[in-house]
Formats: sequence, structure tokens, C-alpha cells
Amino acid sequence: MQNLIETKNLSYSFKRFRAIDNINLNVPQGSIYCFLGPNGAGKTTTIRTLLGLYNVPPTSIKIFGKDIQKERINILKHIGSLVETPSLYEHLTAYENLKILRHYLGGKKERINEVLGIVDLMGGVNKKVKAMSMGMKQRLALAIALFSNPKLLVLDEPTNGLDPQGIREVRELLIKLNKEKGITIFLSSHILSEVEKLATNVGVINKGKLVFEGTLNEMKKVSENVLLIDTNSPAKAKETLERDDKQILIVGENTISVNKNSNESINSILKKLIDSDIEIYSVRSDSGNLEELFFELTGEIK
Ligand code: ATP
Repeated sequence: MQNLIETKNLSYSFKRFRAIDNINLNVPQGSIYCFLGPNGAGKTTTIRTLLGLYNVPPTSIKIFGKDIQKERINILKHIGSLVETPSLYEHLTAYENLKILRHYLGGKKERINEVLGIVDLMGGVNKKVKAMSMGMKQRLALAIALFSNPKLLVLDEPTNGLDPQGIREVRELLIKLNKEKGITIFLSSHILSEVEKLATNVGVINKGKLVFEGTLNEMKKVSENVLLIDTNSPAKAKETLERDDKQILIVGENTISVNKNSNESINSILKKLIDSDIEIYSVRSDSGNLEELFFELTGEIK
């Protein structure tokens, strides 16, 4: 499958602070790609670089197979985006907001009702924005992003600040846009439970680094092969197992997580620890627990 977004060693620094570090993203055409990470992980910074709002070296970002630094305008014509709070005219109706947009962008008058229909706002067509719920406002913002018929939507935390009803409305709308209109969607989120309901593909970012990328199913598979070991000496256990090229994280005061291969027995792992005089208090496998995996991928690494 073709990738609509591809980044190669994408990095960006604010003065000396490296906010994102060697990010390699692969966003397949037709996917709902959720870019998941805790606050401050680097999601917005990545999105801003994708939209050409921050300068990065050429060849770092390809969208639709083209370099964003060289063909920004051409590329942006086919992207609908929502970064920051949308600026809507509060004293005008949804229709009037879109009329103003059409004045700038051109396009057929009928497109206004078309996009209002897509985001299910025809019922509130005469309602002023200031009287709308947060969910309705967000759907209007999405109507604006959709106006030019984009192939790709890039959305920074589109459900942020919405109540459960609003979150559901936006989620259902995004799934509909993806399924019925074939629009590829790249969105950021810090809420795993949301991502699980929506994503086909997931990228997990933590402290500026991409710590996981794959399909949601692959992420579930990885979570099935995580072993949690309580021990008297997590640091020593980490060091010991890392000699075998294992990925180890210290996830609690006395706990490490080990990413084992799916067909690997745990005997060899435990034997290594025992041979190094490390006490083992308990061994658990939170099979298929995505929350645990997410915590491991993004938790404090001591
Ligand atoms: P959130 O969910 O809180 O929006 P995020 O994952 O989108 O988080 P970013 O906004 O990309 O994270 O920020 C990544 C890091 O870069 C943070 O440590 C943040 O403090 C820092 N940062 C962001 N913008 C600037 C800026 N303009 N100047 C300096 N540092 C910045």
C-alpha cells in the first residue's frame, strides 16, 4: 500500500531543545493513523512540521510522494487540517461561516450544503456558532477542513475539550469520512481508549521519539508478548537482559517489562536473572492489555 505521509529521520529543535528526534512515519493511504503520546511528547510539533509550518531539511517529509519543502502549496491544496482551536465567526451561522470560506477558496455554492450534510449540521444551519455545543463547533471546523475535498485530513487532538457525546460525534464522523469518502486521516491523541475505537494504524511518540509504529492489531500482538517481572534490582535486571538485545523498561519501583519474542519461553529469561543473583518476586503477562503496553512505552524510564 502506498504511504500518503512518509518522514525520514524527522527532527526539530526549539533553540537547543530537541522536541522531535529522528521520527520515521509511514502513513498508509486509506488508514486512520492515530499518533498517540502523552502531553508534551511532540505531537503538535510533528504535525506542524508535516504542514510545512516549521522548516525542516529537504527530504525529511514526503506527502503524496512529494517533498513538503519544495511543493508545499501544491500539497496543502489536498490536505484539510485542524491544528489549534479553529477560528470561527461566533456571531454567524454555520452556513454563513462557510459562505465566507467559499469567498476565499472559490468552489460551487452547493458545496456549502454538501459539507454541512457530511458533518450532519444541516439541522443547525441557522444556529449561530455561539449557541452551538462544542461538538457542533468541532464538526463545523471539520466542514471547513473538508470544503476543498481533501484526500488527507491532518488533525491535532480533534476531540480535545469535547464532552463524551461530542467525542462520539466526531469519532463517528471521522470513521464515516474514511470509509465512505476514502479520506486518509492522520490525527493525534493522548487518549488510548479513543485510539482503540478508531485507529487502523498507530504511532506512539514519547519524549520526541517514535517508540512504536504498526497496525492496531500489531500493537495488540506486541502487548501479548510483554512480560512484567517484579524484582529486587530492576536496574541490574535491565542491564543483564539488555546484553541479549532485549528491550527493557523499568516501569515501577520494583518492576521491569521485557518484550519477548512470541515463541520464546520465559525460562531462558528467568534463568539469566537467577544466574546473576537477581531475586524474582513475581512474573506476570498482561496479555493483550494495551493500556499496560502504552504505559510501558511512555512511562517514566528510570
Ligand atoms: P500536548 O498534548 O501537550 O499538546 P504535544 O505532544 O503536542 O503535547 P508539543 O506541543 O509538540 O507536544 O511539544 C513538544 C515539546 O516541545 C514540549 O516539551 C514543549 O514544551 C516543547 N515546545 C513546544 N513548542 C515550543 C516552543 N514554541 N518553544 C519551545 N519549546 C516548545
